[in-house]
Amino acid sequence: MQAEARFQRNMIKLENKLNYLKKTLQSNFSPNQKEWIQNHLMTFNKLYETLQKNSSNSESLEKISEDLYHNVRKAKRRVLYWIKFKSRDIDTFRTLRKEKGETWIPIVDLIDPPPRIHEIQNTHLWDLSFPCMSYTNEELCQFTEMIFKEQNLLSEFNISSDKFGIVVKKICAEYNAPAYHNFSHGFNVFQMFYALVKKTELESALDKVEKFATLIAALGHDMNHRGYNNAYESKLKTKTALTYYDTAILENMHASFIIKILKDPDIEFFNSLPDVTKQTQFRDLIIAVILATDMSKHFKLLKKFSAGVQATMEYRKLKSSDQPVDKYLEDNAFIMDRPQDKRRILKNIIHACDIGNPCQKYENYIYWSTLVTQEFDYQAKKEEKRGIEVTQMFKYKDLPSFFNGQVFFSRNLVLPLWEQIAILFHGAAEAPQNLKMNLKRLEEDKIKANED
Ligand code: AMP
Ligand code: ZN
Repeated sequence: MQAEARFQRNMIKLENKLNYLKKTLQSNFSPNQKEWIQNHLMTFNKLYETLQKNSSNSESLEKISEDLYHNVRKAKRRVLYWIKFKSRDIDTFRTLRKEKGETWIPIVDLIDPPPRIHEIQNTHLWDLSFPCMSYTNEELCQFTEMIFKEQNLLSEFNISSDKFGIVVKKICAEYNAPAYHNFSHGFNVFQMFYALVKKTELESALDKVEKFATLIAALGHDMNHRGYNNAYESKLKTKTALTYYDTAILENMHASFIIKILKDPDIEFFNSLPDVTKQTQFRDLIIAVILATDMSKHFKLLKKFSAGVQATMEYRKLKSSDQPVDKYLEDNAFIMDRPQDKRRILKNIIHACDIGNPCQKYENYIYWSTLVTQEFDYQAKKEEKRGIEVTQMFKYKDLPSFFNGQVFFSRNLVLPLWEQIAILFHGAAEAPQNLKMNLKRLEEDKIKANED
């Protein structure tokens, strides 16, 4: 394409984005935010008009229009974040899709977020089925602070509430609003892990650095997800795929996003930790648990974890009857005062929480599964549009197939992992119990859907 044509294309894109920014002024902003948008719009519009009138060499025009477009996009992203922050992710998702004239699969309209609990107390957040999808991003950020404070993590590391608030909002801002991989999902995984900590001996076994690292990693574990999986990034040879050599592309990217925020010179988060050893332990644990959320490692991780759980049971039995323990058991059992064992457990638990929606109350579970199905279908449509190999199983067919897919996922991938966790920690037993009840409901709903 010639420079002139590229310039014209940039001008059309600019016009669209500027119109969009202007339209957002109808939303509910604070006076400061409104002023910021108006000032930026004024400057952008002046530059746009100058470019339109200019007749200098098209290569330099193209470059300037590109820079302007880049800045308008950045401003739009900021404004969208302000809107997203005050909304529930499901509403942001619907608004964005409507604006683009896009539709969604019919089941998304069948399911509403569960009822809100008013006046949230700490104890509400100990529930594995806390209805986080019913709250705005702003509210979820407040609940995040409540959890860290309840665990005395801010006071332990001398982190002010203001500074921590900035970190949480930055994490939230780096989440997009695809159907499923949004901030509510990040919060869901984080809060589910917290609920497990409260229900099990993890509360006393984990030290403060381990708790802090794992909680923050869970919150940020899908930052900047755009709603497409690793295979999609790889097929399109995206910049991220090339950066991470097609290996755990998204998980590497999420980990690098959270580390970047914690290293931000305005925040200097790592300096809150007592020494370099703790800083390294903190950073390594964040990266390890996020990399463990890569679904392609699920069966390998589960196999090793199950062997560890079995070894732990035998180890505990022998120890309690004062019998000798051999080296295999000593090496493979999970012994809670060994940091490397806690790290193995945490990797599995965060992965389990990441795929833990089938262990929640049925109404929560169906809500998440609907949205993940929507996201899969959207990817398949995008693949078709872009002329790359289409992931056939991501296409939404009908309600009975949806229930079939859920039964398969929950029974074969999620249940075996949570059963192992419940053997290790009895306080987690509620999770596989819920899942088994959900499996029955899925079968019933599948029969009803077949009758319709
Ligand atoms: P993550 O992308 O880090 O959230 O990894 C978890 C993956 O598990 C998701 O990307 C989905 O592929 C899958 N998953 C989670 N929940 C469900 C569900 N209810 N049904 C089908 N797949 C799911
Ligand atoms: Zn996730």
